[in-house]
Amino acid sequence: MSRVLVIGAGGVGSVAVHKMAMNADIFTHISLASRTKSKCDAIAASVKERTGVVVDTYEIDAEEVPALTRLIEKVQPALVVNLALPYQDLAIMDACLAAGVHYMDTANYEPKDEAKFEYHWQWAYQDRFKDAGLMALLGSGFDPGVTSVFTTYLKKHHFERIDTLDILDCNGGDHGQAFATNFNPEINIREVTAVARHWENGDWVETPPMSVKQSFDFEAVGPKNMYLMYHEEIESLKTHLPEIKRIRFWMTFGDEYIKHLTVLQNVGMTRIDPVKYQGVEIIPLQFLKAVLPEPASLGPTTKGKTNIGCIATGIGKDGKEKTLYIYNICDHEDAYAETGNQAVSYTTGVPAMIGAALIVKGLWRGHGVYNMEQFNPDPFMEMLNQHGLPWQVKELDGPLDF
Ligand code: NDP
Repeated sequence: MSRVLVIGAGGVGSVAVHKMAMNADIFTHISLASRTKSKCDAIAASVKERTGVVVDTYEIDAEEVPALTRLIEKVQPALVVNLALPYQDLAIMDACLAAGVHYMDTANYEPKDEAKFEYHWQWAYQDRFKDAGLMALLGSGFDPGVTSVFTTYLKKHHFERIDTLDILDCNGGDHGQAFATNFNPEINIREVTAVARHWENGDWVETPPMSVKQSFDFEAVGPKNMYLMYHEEIESLKTHLPEIKRIRFWMTFGDEYIKHLTVLQNVGMTRIDPVKYQGVEIIPLQFLKAVLPEPASLGPTTKGKTNIGCIATGIGKDGKEKTLYIYNICDHEDAYAETGNQAVSYTTGVPAMIGAALIVKGLWRGHGVYNMEQFNPDPFMEMLNQHGLPWQVKELDGPLDF
């Protein structure tokens, strides 16, 4: 039915391409392009072995818009799925406009020299996509992505009005390393070391990075410390669901992770401004990425589960106040057995495949730039259950008491 071009051959790209190949009735032809072709070839070999599907591979620097436009014109996909890094988002959107093809990603654009996590750069493409009769779907991963769809699902089926929303991201996995990140270290550390911001009563509230800590007992994982953080879906959810008075995002980190990160920060290794070293300019955080384990290498050793979801409190369809918790539990070892990647890549790559499927099937369509919560959540929720990320809803006694 549809040809797709996936850009980016990291853990997320690998899961998405494996899952697309497992749905060959929807994705009739898959091409994979990235900066390092050997990584595309390794994924294609694994896909061939596991599913029998052949994936075409290409080398591309996605920041070179004319070269990428030529590649898109050659491959002729219905959709480009951007699973490279947030730095490439705008260049890939430009190439999609030039080639007349729909666009999708899992993380919002970030300039390399400032960790801002804001949608305005991509929202500014609204008229260009609209005028071209094309769509861009932003943030079809887990968070953002599934968490946004969870929220619209609760709103559609259970609530008249949502007043408060807490997004809880728990990785209870253990990879056996003293310090490693479960997805791209540079992006992960930029996110974690940013000032924490949440939305409350029509305004942003800022707190120093990692300064607000709470314990929460996650099903299938147990009690974990979680930290208040900024996360990009807060911006789009407060824009598209303005009724929500407070939106917060929490992520769990172990004490070892915090200890290492604190030291790295204190000695300047997480800086993103250039430093002169032996006559060469280097960015400390990029150097740190080069010496840390590749997230993809953690797959074989990671054990445990992730539990990510949303707690919403508001007025239910019956007119009474209620609190619902909707979440998915994903097992690292099961994810690895199925696709050769751990659960953090799996929980992002599966929703990327689902978002792409809904676009190419025409179930999620429009002209312009969209976030996940702007579409009907039902077909997405159904596909989560069918494709490895089952979810559940349970009623709580009340909202979080902190
Ligand atoms: P990785 O670092 O493992 O993979 C990124 C891939 O992009 C690599 O193959 C890399 O190539 C490639 N790449 C980098 N720069 C370019 C370029 N200029 N041109 C072409 N390809 C390039 O990252 P992940 O797979 O962990 O993450 C992928 C994306 O998913 C990121 O944007 C991340 O922020 C997002 N994400 C979203 C989540 C969500 O829930 N929404 C959760 C986790 C991740 P090379 O190997 O040569 O470096």
